[in-house]
Amino acid sequence: MTRIGIVGAGAAAAAAASTLEETPAETEITVLEKSRGLCGRAATRRRDDVVYDYGANYVKSDDERVVELLTETLDSEGLVDVTDPVWTFDSDGTVSEGDDRDGHKWTYRQGLTQIAKRLFARTDATIHRETRIKTIVRSDGAVDGSGDAGRRGDAGRHGDADGVWHLEDADGTRWGPFDVLLLNPPAPQTADLLRSAEWDADACDDLADAVDEVPFRTIWTAIFHYPFELERPYYALVNTDKAHEVGWIGREECKPGHVPDGESLLVVQANHEWSVDRYDEPAAENRERLADLTADLMGDERLREPGWADQQGWRYALPEDGVAADPLRRAEREGLYCLGDWVAGESRLHAALRNGLEIGERIGQESGVDG
Ligand SMILES: Cc1cc2nc3c(=O)[nH]c(=O)nc-3n(C[C@H](O)[C@H](O)[C@H](O)COP(=O)(O)OP(=O)(O)OC[C@H]3O[C@@H](n4cnc5c(N)ncnc54)[C@H](O)[C@@H]3O)c2cc1C
Repeated sequence: MTRIGIVGAGAAAAAAASTLEETPAETEITVLEKSRGLCGRAATRRRDDVVYDYGANYVKSDDERVVELLTETLDSEGLVDVTDPVWTFDSDGTVSEGDDRDGHKWTYRQGLTQIAKRLFARTDATIHRETRIKTIVRSDGAVDGSGDAGRRGDAGRHGDADGVWHLEDADGTRWGPFDVLLLNPPAPQTADLLRSAEWDADACDDLADAVDEVPFRTIWTAIFHYPFELERPYYALVNTDKAHEVGWIGREECKPGHVPDGESLLVVQANHEWSVDRYDEPAAENRERLADLTADLMGDERLREPGWADQQGWRYALPEDGVAADPLRRAEREGLYCLGDWVAGESRLHAALRNGLEIGERIGQESGVDG
């Protein structure tokens, strides 16, 4: 039995867990997730009869393995394509046709969180929500300090076969021991975990330094609901010169099953600079400013006064770069694996999923999980 601990229940973690479950050897997977929901930055909320994806907007069909995963491996019931195009606007607010991207823009009628829900549903993983991990502890497997001494896993192909991992959450509860540990939080949060780790090894410092260097963009998102329909020839507007305070406006009513007829819901993402400047300002003020900008961009005065509104600050929204490979590989030899879009080096949901699939396979090959 190989005991696997996973910090974070994002798309990459779900894909890795699902892959590990397919290995012939026995695994015991424990997932510790700080929030109430699954799927991390691919996030969905429901209010009244409206469903809205307020993090990632959709998953693209840019990766063959992910396409196979979504259309064949997982139940594709409720998988919907956003077929309306994406138009553009510039810093002056001039809207232009075009910039339609190739391929599918998929979500589910019930929202993008279905991806992690369906992946985890294929596993026997135990998922503990609202459990924020604060510290990682590496210890000698023979005496691991938890009363579990001697309960060793089969992770015999790692460099330090006797070591085990424990995790400590914000309430002081200790989790583990684990033979293999997966870290899925965005790079800055993973770096914090590594900095506070009780793991006395050069590999830990090298990894923390490398992870710390991955830059992330911030997005402050407003959600505006209107009790009327908006007729527009596009699904979304994207700012191409990156010089407008708004980066993106998406119309959730273009996603089948998301918005009842006769209503509209806009997801408005501010650009990085605006989001950083206004991150801690009162939410109502931020929403008001973004509603005004939206009304100006879409040329409709009614949009200044939404029926109801919501918001989410994404401090760590999109990685701008990947992480150096060597420190990752050194840590993997000790049974610690990082995974996510920032490991893939692409700030996209399909990249996170692909990375999770690959990490799951690599653990199978390197740790003896494959028997
Ligand atoms: C506003 C926004 C818009 C986006 N738009 C798109 C888009 O249109 N298309 C696209 O392809 N991608 C988009 N993305 C990017 C996409 O959401 C990500 O690439 C993808 O979801 C990353 O998945 P992940 O598994 O790497 O990490 P995450 O989804 O970040 O998962 C990490 C998990 O770890 C948890 N966690 C963090 N710290 C701890 C801790 N200490 N203890 C326990 N759990 C912890 C988090 O709660 C989270 O559930 C967007 C992202 C944002 C924020």
